[in-house]
Amino acid sequence: MNITSFTCPICGQQKAETERHRGFALPQSLVTILQKRMSSWSPRQPVCAACLNQAKGDHLRQTLEAERGPLSPLESEVIDSLTGAALLAVDTNATLAQSLSRGERLAHWVSALIANWSFSATILLLLGGWIVVNLLFQPFDPFPVIIFAVISAVLASLAAIEGPIIMMSQRRQAKREQLQARNDYQINLKAELEVRYINEKIDHLLKRQEQLLELLTTSLEERQ
Ligand SMILES: [Zn+2]
Repeated sequence: MNITSFTCPICGQQKAETERHRGFALPQSLVTILQKRMSSWSPRQPVCAACLNQAKGDHLRQTLEAERGPLSPLESEVIDSLTGAALLAVDTNATLAQSLSRGERLAHWVSALIANWSFSATILLLLGGWIVVNLLFQPFDPFPVIIFAVISAVLASLAAIEGPIIMMSQRRQAKREQLQARNDYQINLKAELEVRYINEKIDHLLKRQEQLLELLTTSLEERQ
């Protein structure tokens, strides 16, 4: 047998020594879950990291279900993340960028192009320049009313197109906020569950320390 490995009594698999955890350091809730998987297992025996994470996930799932009833898919993802020790934080901008269609990308690009003061200033400058040129060179535009009507029609059409484009861009923003809120909720829930588990573990270790100190004190008193 390889000295740098051990056999996990729960799953029966050969695991590296770095994955070995002491059973006596585990809270009673986890001991109960591990004993449900293998009734002959005792806290004196070791357990591998994978079995421990599985038991921890089961325990936190039961705790959450007891408080909230059946778990939503979002909450199940949090428990899966705890079991697999995977990260939940995601870059919402990158995730959203991957899911955008060509039309949505174009809407965002056009929206960024027109929704600023530079675009408005350019339109005003063009109109102002055109008026000044016509005042200085009268023959240039002998029918200003007609040309103004054409320009008004063009600008009105532009405004009619801008509305839906800006709304499409706002919908993308709403989608990003929704994605961010979902990710924040999952991270907060995971942090809360982790803190609760750590508290439980510290309470267990303190209790065990008290028991050991009591035994040690009794033993010393008997010797004296
Ligand atoms: Zn195992």
